[in-house]
Amino acid sequence: MRVLIIEDDPAIAANLYDFLEARGHSVDAAADGVTGLHLAVTQRFDGILLDLGLPGMGGAALCRKLRDEAHVDTPVLMLTARDTLEDKLKGFEHGADDYLVKPFALKEVEARLLALHKRHAGKVTSRLLEVNDLSFDPKTLSVRFAGTEVRLPPKCMRLLELMMGEPGRVFSRRELESEIWGDTQKTSDTLRSHMHVLRRALTQAGGRDPIETVHGIGYRLHSNAGA
Ligand code: CA
Repeated sequence: MRVLIIEDDPAIAANLYDFLEARGHSVDAAADGVTGLHLAVTQRFDGILLDLGLPGMGGAALCRKLRDEAHVDTPVLMLTARDTLEDKLKGFEHGADDYLVKPFALKEVEARLLALHKRHAGKVTSRLLEVNDLSFDPKTLSVRFAGTEVRLPPKCMRLLELMMGEPGRVFSRRELESEIWGDTQKTSDTLRSHMHVLRRALTQAGGRDPIETVHGIGYRLHSNAGA
């Protein structure tokens, strides 16, 4: 799993980092909310460990921005110092998926992260994706845009599925490449040409291009594809 730790206590962050990395996960860490939010929005993670009490932007505000503004639905496991109902409610209200009270067992953190990831992955791969009049059914591999069936090569379909999973979010080119082609080395032309095929097919079907190039970064699907 790719895990992001957002925690300002260096000892706790180091413990989590070392444990998860030793267990084979790929780990990134941020010591404040602003840096953490930036990482969570610009890179793809399977789970986020989020401290509730952070300097500057707190965990609750970060989680809310992640969900409501960046439209990122990466599972969030909230970490808090106190076991109060108020803290717990604050976490869930702002979009956290689960909650752990310090001190916690490292194995418990990993188990919760794996459970959240499994639940999230199941939800993502089996559900019908709809962004306004664009829809993708992963079970039948049927793509429809503005009422018209769109025929797409498998890699283009996978690109669309990824972006439809988080409409409005900017996906970096590297992230899309590693999701579609894994770590096998690809030239940037491979992604560009697949993106071209995808956008042309969608534009032909729906009369407009719902994908936007974010210069110097990557691509995003308009969350208001109808606009
Ligand atoms: Ca803290």
